[in-house]
Amino acid sequence: MASILVFSERASLVFELLGKAKELGGKIGLELTAAAFNPGDAEAYLKRGASKVFYSDQAEVKNFEASIYAQALAQIAQKAGASLILLGSTRRGKELAGRLAQRLQAGCLTDVKSIELKEGKVICVRNAFGGATEATQAIATSAQVIALMPRACEPTPEGEKKGEIVTLHLELKPSRVKVVKKSEKDPGAVDIQGAEILVCVGKGLSRQEDLKMIEELAQALGGLVACSKPLATDLKWLPESRIVGLSGKIGKPRLALCLGISGQVQFSVGIREAKTIMAINTDPNAYIFQITDYGLIADLHQAVPQLTAAIRG
Ligand SMILES: Cc1cc2nc3c(=O)[nH]c(=O)nc-3n(C[C@H](O)[C@H](O)[C@H](O)COP(=O)(O)OP(=O)(O)OC[C@H]3O[C@@H](n4cnc5c(N)ncnc54)[C@H](O)[C@@H]3O)c2cc1C
Repeated sequence: MASILVFSERASLVFELLGKAKELGGKIGLELTAAAFNPGDAEAYLKRGASKVFYSDQAEVKNFEASIYAQALAQIAQKAGASLILLGSTRRGKELAGRLAQRLQAGCLTDVKSIELKEGKVICVRNAFGGATEATQAIATSAQVIALMPRACEPTPEGEKKGEIVTLHLELKPSRVKVVKKSEKDPGAVDIQGAEILVCVGKGLSRQEDLKMIEELAQALGGLVACSKPLATDLKWLPESRIVGLSGKIGKPRLALCLGISGQVQFSVGIREAKTIMAINTDPNAYIFQITDYGLIADLHQAVPQLTAAIRG
């Protein structure tokens, strides 16, 4: 039976992809399969609805290396008879998508925000022109590799495991990439892309010391501090891993609070899928107010401590 194959190096993303794959597969009669390279993940995917999990515990796939994973997944896709392969659109996932598509002679789309079936075709929506608009696209080849952004779909809930694990021995050529050294990119890195609540701060903040009150607000809300690009790249007040937007992270938080941010499209694209958007800005004509659910025209230096105190009760 032909199948949809799902893979990401992050198990939490596979849970999301399985939900979407189940919906698509049900409509076009494709079996739901997944690939896993550690036994815990394989079991978890079965509980989330995969009817087959192709698994390998070979030393070569213990750590992510795109060229090796592309070889592995190409072989798994063939075994699974997969015509549609869904990957997570992480930095690694995007490299993998291109390499895998090349091996399978498949069409490929990455950074896909949503996906649905229309007249038997898989239709994908992606940002275009730096997030100023959206493009609706479909792949013309029969084999398709599609990388979906984190939080593009709801994770499928855990249930009873019904399927089976198929252990494979893969023929893998050694990588031409040699890891010379590993170093931590950003010791303070946090997952702002996966955050439920983001407190984003921009150039409206007048002094680096004032970041303390932004941290306090984020703490009171149980969220993470993120920022506009200039705050990290020009002022260097926060690490680049905190940048929201086109050059940074694109998330789908429950709440995005934007403080002293003008709301240029390159920033807004990073939070506009948030369930609720709030902003504090001194300028009543700031672009940010065009996408907010709630807006406060105020000086953030006065409003933020009051907001924190009110939340803390
Ligand atoms: C190719 C490209 C990619 C880019 N990628 C990104 C990206 O990923 N992320 C990103 O953020 N930007 C990105 N940019 C930059 C983007 O275009 C904007 O320049 C940037 O987002 C502006 O940041 P800002 O809103 O903090 O600053 P500003 O535009 O200077 O806005 C500051 C805001 O603070 C308000 N303000 C001032 N004082 C106060 C106060 N006391 N209280 C409350 N409000 C106050 C002002 O009214 C103003 O609206 C990119 C640009 C390019 C060309």
